[in-house]
Amino acid sequence: MNTKNKGFNTKLIHAGEIEEPYGSATVPIYQTSTFRFKNAKHGADCFSGKSDGYIYTRLANPTIRAFEQSIAELENAYDGIATSSGMGAITSVYMALLGAGDHIISTGAVYGPARGVLEFDLSRFGVESSFVNTSDIENIIAAIKPNTRVLYIETPANPTMEITDILACAEIARKHNLLLVVDNTFCSPYLQKPLDLGADVVLHSVTKFINGHADIVGGVIVTKEPRVYKKVRHMMTYMGCNMDPTQAYMALRGLKTLALRIERAQNNALCLAEFIQFHPKVSWIKYPGLSSHPQYALARKQMDGPGSMMSFGLKGGFKAGEKLMDNVRLAILAVSLGGVETLIQHPASMTHAAVSRKHKLAAGISDDLVRLSVGIEDVDDIIEDLKQALNHV
Ligand SMILES: *Cc1c(COP(=O)(O)O)cnc(C)c1O
Repeated sequence: MNTKNKGFNTKLIHAGEIEEPYGSATVPIYQTSTFRFKNAKHGADCFSGKSDGYIYTRLANPTIRAFEQSIAELENAYDGIATSSGMGAITSVYMALLGAGDHIISTGAVYGPARGVLEFDLSRFGVESSFVNTSDIENIIAAIKPNTRVLYIETPANPTMEITDILACAEIARKHNLLLVVDNTFCSPYLQKPLDLGADVVLHSVTKFINGHADIVGGVIVTKEPRVYKKVRHMMTYMGCNMDPTQAYMALRGLKTLALRIERAQNNALCLAEFIQFHPKVSWIKYPGLSSHPQYALARKQMDGPGSMMSFGLKGGFKAGEKLMDNVRLAILAVSLGGVETLIQHPASMTHAAVSRKHKLAAGISDDLVRLSVGIEDVDDIIEDLKQALNHV
């Protein structure tokens, strides 16, 4: 059915539905690499674009299209492009929008590999990059050069929880003719819709909240304009980082409960943050749902809720962090986030290990920082677990 004018929760369940001969209530997994043409003319028409029939799964596939169209509707986008992973989405966007001699400005505390690929790989192809604390708009303005093409932000940033003003960035981007790209992984479209605030491109690691069950890796890109969409889709298919039909099915299945999962995880996170905030062994906490967050007001303005990600520091520093992680029993010591289970990790030695110490500190990723992705377990059990683990610190 057409869900364009329906509510967000209805879209979660029904967007992307397709008509197929057996009346399947769910989108079937079209596990095929290629599609039969009816005749020579049909084959030629599919290639020339006269017919929109499917050709080959790297280019498009009905299960994958259902997922792409669902996310596009949820983000109020023109259309979507699903990828093999979040990094597939990020590299497709970089490769599509940047060329030799171009410059990109990015959030300093961006997802580690999203920074690494610019610093160490795209630099070999003549792409220049600057990393600044984008939570202060002045830093962005100061970094703009005549060859700047893209402003890339992650908000809240991973793992510092710094928040960047999307609306203000969109204004700067318009004024300087830049494309604004937002990594919306931490929020999902349930909590934040950057295209509505003026962004040009939004991307996600589907691995996280969108799928939500820690059982697939995936990515997705949506754009506001057809022109940008065509560029990015072209690059994704040429790089070959397409999503697989089974991955798309899993992501569609996970997506249906997005709102329920986030509401519950967020309620748990609020309770947990209040417990952590006053714990004697904790030196600081950053959670957008606490008024102690430096950008609490901005979070309330641009996000529809504070989410379920937080970071905090232990008075005992790195060693205390290690002790904490070795003693949690319910929380899983693992990277990744946004799943139904509570996960805990230490960015300095794990997700951001590839970033130099100097850059880590400049980006606010201190050695004592512990990142928590709160799940949907009973909150009393999560608090109990952290309480006993903190006793060992
Ligand atoms: C995990 C993550 C990515 C990368 O996604 P993969 O699916 O692991 O490739 C990008 N951005 C953010 C914010 C992430 O958390």
